[in-house]
Amino acid sequence: MNNEQSQSHQPPYQILLYYKFVTIPDPESFKDEHLQYCKELGVKGRILIASEGINGTISGTVEQTEAYMRHMKANPLFADMVFKVDPAEEHAFRKIFVRHREELVTFRVDEELDPNVVSGKRLSPKEFYETLQREDVIVLDGRTDYEYDLGHFRNAIRPDVDSFREFPEWIRENMGQFKDKTILTYCTGGIRCEKLTGFMMKEGFQDVAQLEGGIVTYGKDPEVQGKLFDGKCYVFDERISVRINNTDEDVVVGKCHHCGKPADTFINCANDACHLQHICCEACEEQHHGFCSTSCEETVAAG
Ligand SMILES: [Zn+2]
Ligand SMILES: [Zn+2]
Repeated sequence: MNNEQSQSHQPPYQILLYYKFVTIPDPESFKDEHLQYCKELGVKGRILIASEGINGTISGTVEQTEAYMRHMKANPLFADMVFKVDPAEEHAFRKIFVRHREELVTFRVDEELDPNVVSGKRLSPKEFYETLQREDVIVLDGRTDYEYDLGHFRNAIRPDVDSFREFPEWIRENMGQFKDKTILTYCTGGIRCEKLTGFMMKEGFQDVAQLEGGIVTYGKDPEVQGKLFDGKCYVFDERISVRINNTDEDVVVGKCHHCGKPADTFINCANDACHLQHICCEACEEQHHGFCSTSCEETVAAG
């Protein structure tokens, strides 16, 4: 897209991604009020409220999302909350969910992990980009294996976990040899690394740093332009993935579930009882009619 095009068309919607670790005194009633507010405003998405803070991703028209950000910033608890804003052509969610949870990110360890007390150094996209190029650093993806498979920073370690709560055990079993190294971690928007780096420091890792604002912020930085991120970034809304690397080194790292060729489009299996999310190339989507397997196709055909 050239500049002329991007300026002449202003997308009518925006997608917001944000979090803040701050003590919310009565999360249950805050949740009720916040849900009511969101419904009246007309935004859609998923917001988690805990006594340790808020974590949300919502979509709405430019007017609605701007009003939402003003509303939140007027609250002293969230006055300095950082919003990542993506332009969009439509809503990225079908409904609004506001839920009260024990933890903002499920990371079950016995001791309490408060990112305002202990968490790794925060690196700006530029600092992260520069540190990535040092030969003595260990880069650890702070997300799950299927997110890694769609795209990741070059040379990052792929954690063999399919949910975030598996990280503590996985790190204890696999990362011990790197305790005296410089460790870089990153995740989608930054929130998971807040917990992950604090945990690693408590485990005795000497030098742990995290990408501030996550991959999505890195992709918007005008200077680094997403460099050294290979593939696409998985996102938890209807877009499923977004482009990060805006240079000509943009490559596809995902592989088609059927034929193994490079692909980076996720689809859900057309068999509603299965609904498996899988990477699928265009040719295979046509050939397999959107089913993940022959058995799913036969099940549906048999009615
Ligand atoms: Zn294929
Ligand atoms: Zn299936």
